[in-house]
Amino acid sequence: MRTQLKKALWPWLIVAGVTFAAFEIGRIVAGPLFVTTAAAAHDPSSTPQDELHPFAALEPIDTHVHAFKSDPVFADLLARLRLHVLDICVADTQRSFGDLAAETARAEGFVQASQGHARLCVTFDPFAFQQKDFAQNTIRQLRQEFTGGAVAVKIWKNIGMELKTPDGRYVMPDDPAFEPIYREIAAENKTLVAHVAEPSSCWEPPNPDSPDYDYYEENPQWYMYLHPDHPRKEVILAARDRLLAENPNLRVVGAHLGSMETDVDEIAKRFDRYPNFAVDTAARMEYLMIQPREKVRNFLIKYQDRVLYGTDLEFLNGEATPEALKEWQDTYARDWKFLATHQILQYKKRQIEGLDLPEPVLRRIYHDNAARWIPGITGSSK
Ligand SMILES: [Zn+2]
Repeated sequence: MRTQLKKALWPWLIVAGVTFAAFEIGRIVAGPLFVTTAAAAHDPSSTPQDELHPFAALEPIDTHVHAFKSDPVFADLLARLRLHVLDICVADTQRSFGDLAAETARAEGFVQASQGHARLCVTFDPFAFQQKDFAQNTIRQLRQEFTGGAVAVKIWKNIGMELKTPDGRYVMPDDPAFEPIYREIAAENKTLVAHVAEPSSCWEPPNPDSPDYDYYEENPQWYMYLHPDHPRKEVILAARDRLLAENPNLRVVGAHLGSMETDVDEIAKRFDRYPNFAVDTAARMEYLMIQPREKVRNFLIKYQDRVLYGTDLEFLNGEATPEALKEWQDTYARDWKFLATHQILQYKKRQIEGLDLPEPVLRRIYHDNAARWIPGITGSSK
């Protein structure tokens, strides 16, 4: 890994030098990517940004972002990092990202401005599931969106945790109402991105050490510990597993480590059982950091063709671009440090040693798996 990286670093040193010169002359770079200070330009091993050189060399793909604002500076970031992203739409009743049609239009705007670096993952409103012709209407809408370039479809945790029938039964992801839609996605050779259930801490008493503590503080409506009348996690994941078994031709990427974030052995069991199943790492890298290092490392090596790099980074309407740019770069630098090096990271009170994964494994996690599990994500095919 290290020698190959050194080789890969040389062209970047030249690029960094040129970038630095441009930065000094023009002072136009909103979020200087490779160079933050003169000292850093002369000592490329010293800043988090420098760790993005070998990251960029892999032509990385982030399979899980929510970008709903267009800004040429962001398109520039994607180009400079040689980064492709899957821009995911979400249909929630809280409308955190606004009305679904408006949200999708903003995501399309981001994709169009990305110069080929972003692809769209669309979604549908599951709350219409009992309307007449729900499946046909959804399929018609999806077909149009596929024609327009969408490469994947997202389902969200509201299926299993919020959506109910009029008689009060929770609707699960394997509900027959969704079956024709899943069959259509498979027939169109697209991918289902499934955020099903939540981290286990969602059903457990508050624990400030949990990576999700802040989220449930801020979103008590999703904190199932406070809502014991809602379905248990096991019930929801069992429905997800039935969906996998019943749709062997449908590629499913389980968002957020497939909500099996506390134990990679649980993910491994599903991988062994369902060849049509992969997971993304979005917003759950911390859970890989806090499990035993050798166990996680062995898991990622053994299942190196089933794990897709994803972050859950956001770029929202009304958000300031420089802050978002910094957060994106910092996240990529932190994740790279953890996956690709054996440097020490600080996470909460813990010291975490990086996994130092072999280069071919990094290549799969950062690029190849996304290209295979989400065809069209880099724009090479529709
Ligand atoms: Zn997300």
